[in-house]
Amino acid sequence: MSVLTPMMQQYRSIKERFPEEILFFRLGDFYEMFFDDALKASEILEIALTARDGGGGKKVPMCGVPHHSAEGYIARLVARGCKVAIAEQMEDPSQAKGLVSREVVRIITPGTLTEEGALPERSNNYIVGVSLRENMVGIASADLSTGYFGVSWISRLAGLHNLNDELGRLLPAEIVTETAKPDRQLDALLDGSATVITRRQGPEDSSLARLEEMALRPEGMPSAGYRAALQAGALLMEYLEETQKQALVNFQQVELYTLDAFMYMDRQTRRNLEISQSLREGDRKTSLVHILDFTATAMGGRLLRRWLEQPLIDLEAITRRQDAVQELTENVFLREDLRKELKRVYDLERILTRVTLGRAGARDLRAMAQSLMAAARVRDLLAAQSRIFREEAEQLDVLTDLTDLLDRGIVEEPPLSVKEGNLIREGYSEEIDGLRETASMGRRWISELEEREREATGIRTLKVGYNRVFGYYLEVSKSHRDKVPEHYQRKQTLAGGERFITPELKELEDRVLNASDRLVRREYELFCGIRQEAAGCARGLQVLAGFLASLDVFGSFAAAAVRFGYVRPRLDGGTGLSVRQGRHPVVERLLPEGEFIPNDCTLSAGQKSLGILTGPNMAGKSTYIRMVAVLTVMAQSGSFVPARSMELGLADRVFARVGASDDLATGQSTFMVEMNEVANILKNATASSLIILDEVGRGTSTTDGLAIAWSVSEYIHSVTGARTLFATHYHELVALEELYEGIFNLSMDVRETGDQVLFLRRVIPGGSDRSYGIHVARMAGLPRPVLTRAEEKLEELENTRETGVLVQGGRQLEILRENPVVDILRDAVLDDFTPRQALDFLYELKQIALRQED
Ligand code: ATP
Repeated sequence: MSVLTPMMQQYRSIKERFPEEILFFRLGDFYEMFFDDALKASEILEIALTARDGGGGKKVPMCGVPHHSAEGYIARLVARGCKVAIAEQMEDPSQAKGLVSREVVRIITPGTLTEEGALPERSNNYIVGVSLRENMVGIASADLSTGYFGVSWISRLAGLHNLNDELGRLLPAEIVTETAKPDRQLDALLDGSATVITRRQGPEDSSLARLEEMALRPEGMPSAGYRAALQAGALLMEYLEETQKQALVNFQQVELYTLDAFMYMDRQTRRNLEISQSLREGDRKTSLVHILDFTATAMGGRLLRRWLEQPLIDLEAITRRQDAVQELTENVFLREDLRKELKRVYDLERILTRVTLGRAGARDLRAMAQSLMAAARVRDLLAAQSRIFREEAEQLDVLTDLTDLLDRGIVEEPPLSVKEGNLIREGYSEEIDGLRETASMGRRWISELEEREREATGIRTLKVGYNRVFGYYLEVSKSHRDKVPEHYQRKQTLAGGERFITPELKELEDRVLNASDRLVRREYELFCGIRQEAAGCARGLQVLAGFLASLDVFGSFAAAAVRFGYVRPRLDGGTGLSVRQGRHPVVERLLPEGEFIPNDCTLSAGQKSLGILTGPNMAGKSTYIRMVAVLTVMAQSGSFVPARSMELGLADRVFARVGASDDLATGQSTFMVEMNEVANILKNATASSLIILDEVGRGTSTTDGLAIAWSVSEYIHSVTGARTLFATHYHELVALEELYEGIFNLSMDVRETGDQVLFLRRVIPGGSDRSYGIHVARMAGLPRPVLTRAEEKLEELENTRETGVLVQGGRQLEILRENPVVDILRDAVLDDFTPRQALDFLYELKQIALRQED
């Protein structure tokens, strides 16, 4: 390489430290990119690629974006999975001697966005840290934009499906993991779970110690799990601090949670029940979250989603939520008044993050002030009118001092920029008021001077002007040149006139400009001081934001309950489930008012635990079984449910297997995916779980499929004992009712008139022996000859079929549930273990075995 110019040398030395990032190199009003970065960025951003002399006449590729509109460009690069390093000028170029010094002040990555415009309002932007320690996988999740930080762990020995499911809930924008200890299966799972994976060295001891202080280990928590959780947390925290180039005070607290504190739903179940996304192309519109979201704030919107994605299993905690929702359904005025105030609350969590990172503008502080004022009114409303919240409200700190400071300090409608003045409110600082006075007085003096000079010279068109080069000047047009007095000093000659200065004008100018300059500088300093004060209240602000968000969700549940006619479900610790006149909350909304036909459902572990649902295609089977699962999820989230009544013994896990889909990405066929899902259910469901199956075994030959469906049903009934609904077109399964106590038949009612079939959408007891598939095929427009031939063939098949073979040969199933310890042992590669790991392994197995006995 030929000799580089000094600036390009500086560029090179910075770039060396950020090889993976696209380096935005600040040059005056632009961020410039060079070499490969320029090639890549110009293509993604569709901006012109140019060249610059890099030294010795050699051209280097370059492209650039104006600094004031950089945010949008950065967002586009980040959305494409790039990381962007911002190198700023660290000194004022006009004051610098020689080359201006430059430094990277921040790295922007998909998981570290804090800009309002780059983030979806109502969902979190998670970055996840994963690290493997002994036989434990630690998992940390953070949303830098909201200040959320949580850690947990999963036993590696039990396989990776739990981690997969947790990643399915978090949908991380980015994953950080350790370079050491390769684990091929784990690496493959991580690679498939986010577009950006960063591998780095394990965390320093000091980071671990700091995290330990933030997430204290509760009694009884296994220490290996705890250590893995800390490890992942420290790894993630180090990375976040490195990208932000500062300590992160917005993470005030680390939530240490165990996965079994929540209802377990695997990735497919969340997807199939369309909790936060509908099955069709990630659209939100027909998701449960979308239908139920009546929140007034973005924070509430995010929390609503979290609650529905993570229902509880603790009766007391759910009851507390229900009590809150109930009060708000009953007290219309309180609900409406609260909603009105909550609408005035801005996204405090995200504002707080910008405040603590020093990125908040004056508008953010104004928004914070307004939110705090609304919070104070919320507190008063609750203290005066609420039974449930009174006490909490009375103790709630609404940060009056901070509110007052913000309100006194910041003007009501501040400008976007914080470096051009007009930020500080009148009366807040004598100094500012004085400077403002001088600046505006000065401008008045200057216009008075203009008037005086016109009179003295008799030049009516004389005017005072201003430009950056000469400052203030007096301008006289050509025609009045002869009237210009002696003491005017000529500065510039234009086509139409001339510009002059006088000593008096210059003296005034000094006073005006000095005052304006100082004013802008001092305003910025005072603004930073106020912002610092706000950052100091981070903990209180977070608590308050959390309170407002949950209040918002209670209000939203209440609003949905009132608007759509939901009731409070009765929950207990048993294993029953009974729904009267239940409706599917989403399907109901998509149909015209009143057209949804409600249905009942009764399941109870041991007695009527497994319902086989048969009936025609298109009759409403899927809708029915999903309804039961969705109502369970809603109930355990604290929401009311669309039904006349519901009683529910809490479900520890909900499984929903619906339809079949290829997973080409992992090289699995439709049938393989289906069998994997079924295997996962059979291994993990307990007697307290709820399972809905929408066809099993369809992806293979009819007899294979039927045989599998049959034995899966037997296993669930006799071994697992979970409450189950199984919708199927294998009418042969109807015979199971005769063989097993707990299995019973249900079907979808239809009325046949001639060759017409009318779907009544009603679930009735008893099995059905027809699918009316040909009828549906006719509705779908299959050609007539095909339909006629199909009818012939159907008759032929039905006559020759050896019915009842399975039933006659059926014997009661006697399999004992295989202990998972055996499973783990079978998969373990013992040769890879160190003696220490072998011992850990033994302890771990013992724990699993003990858990199994409970
Ligand atoms: P297939 O066996 O072909 O998969 P299915 O029996 O599972 O069909 P669904 O998909 O549940 O049928 O329902 C088909 C359509 O019927 C739904 O899209 C919905 O519009 C309507 N539907 C289902 N249940 C009801 C109901 N209870 N009341 C009114 N309409 C309903």
